[in-house]
Amino acid sequence: MRDLFNPSEEHAALRRTLREFAEREVDPQAAAYDRSESFNVGLFKKLGELGVLGITVAEKFGGAGMDAVAAVIAHEELAAADPGFTLAYLAHSMLFVNNFYQNASDAQRSRYLPDVCSGKKIGGMCMSEPGAGTDVLGMKTTAARRGDVYVLNGAKMWITNGAVSDNELGDIFLVYARTGEKGVRSFSQFLVEKGASGFKLGQKLKDKLGMRASTTAELVFDGCEVPAANLIGQEGDAVGHMMRNLEIERLTLAAMSLGIARRSIEIMNRYASERHAFGQPIREFGQIQSHIATSYASWMAGRCYVYETAAHLDLAEGGHRIDSDGVKLFCATMGKEVADRAIQVLGGYGYVGEYQVERLWRDAKLLEIGGGTIEAHQKNLARDLARVSLLP
Ligand SMILES: Cc1cc2nc3c(=O)[nH]c(=O)nc-3n(C[C@H](O)[C@H](O)[C@H](O)COP(=O)(O)OP(=O)(O)OC[C@H]3O[C@@H](n4cnc5c(N)ncnc54)[C@H](O)[C@@H]3O)c2cc1C
Repeated sequence: MRDLFNPSEEHAALRRTLREFAEREVDPQAAAYDRSESFNVGLFKKLGELGVLGITVAEKFGGAGMDAVAAVIAHEELAAADPGFTLAYLAHSMLFVNNFYQNASDAQRSRYLPDVCSGKKIGGMCMSEPGAGTDVLGMKTTAARRGDVYVLNGAKMWITNGAVSDNELGDIFLVYARTGEKGVRSFSQFLVEKGASGFKLGQKLKDKLGMRASTTAELVFDGCEVPAANLIGQEGDAVGHMMRNLEIERLTLAAMSLGIARRSIEIMNRYASERHAFGQPIREFGQIQSHIATSYASWMAGRCYVYETAAHLDLAEGGHRIDSDGVKLFCATMGKEVADRAIQVLGGYGYVGEYQVERLWRDAKLLEIGGGTIEAHQKNLARDLARVSLLP
């Protein structure tokens, strides 16, 4: 019988391994790292030992050689324990590793992938800028060829894994920059490592609402020189790289919302049996039943949409934009609303840290903004659907 969520024994084994790891290692540290607003680098490196940092990379380059469904399983399971930590995993494994693997040459892959698949180096992806987020092609960072190097100037904002601590830069980044004046072929993609001249940590952002267990940073390129060999693909290729990678980014961000929703449902479901009011468990009250039942049904609807989309998403090809926008549009708000209902079911106990749902709710909000705002998904979907005459 077809199992949409675990289509093969390999997928089921991955889910078992990650759920066990998440319960044993990720869950117990989540509240402390949220509180201290810091990134658990030691735990992150253990994901390298588990073999999931290069989950979509071919084994010959140090990866696990798995597919989009596997990536979804990993993000769903880890996010059920700690969405902040999972965001760091996503920025590394999807935004850097998968993006680089899909677009780099074999020589570049052989040189850089082993260290990021093992966790020796922690990666991130620099697209957004202080003045350009949704309007990403309005970016101002430039890269100009000077002999054997490209010189980058500009600043990138909101970069997950941009720092590993309050004042230490992350290790390795894919950076989008302008190499031309106008049009979609004016953008190129570069690999930039810590230690490149003129590459600096602008600031590690503090006081985030949620996702506090991942770092978010502003990175500065001040006459930053990178070897010409660090250009990924050809000059002008970057918008294609960006659009294709946004599909798996949005799918795995939606998978994080699934993890948040599942955990919230587990917590409210258990609490509704344990908590008594007016002489009976609160699950006897119709309004509490509505919170639980609506949450379960909307989680399962999102789950089916995400796994069905993942089953068809070929990582080497673009062309899944409608549903990669669609799953994130639906699941981001679904996850936030389910976490919100969990707080409501728990009453005052939901509003404090002990039962985790307040952290899940704070983390859930980011998914309506990062990787594309819900308004951006609505805009993209409405534009793309205008070109479709018959829906499947
Ligand atoms: C915690 C965190 C982690 C992040 N990690 C990364 C990362 O690793 N790498 C990276 O490159 N970026 C990252 N981002 C950036 C993220 O992708 C952007 O914040 C997001 O794309 C929105 O851009 P913006 O913040 O500039 O908002 P803006 O684009 O300025 O949007 C402001 C508001 O205007 C709306 N809006 C804008 N344009 C339109 C339009 N055409 N139609 C309707 N409404 C519109 C938006 O929906 C939003 O409501 C991260 C952000 C956060 C908060």
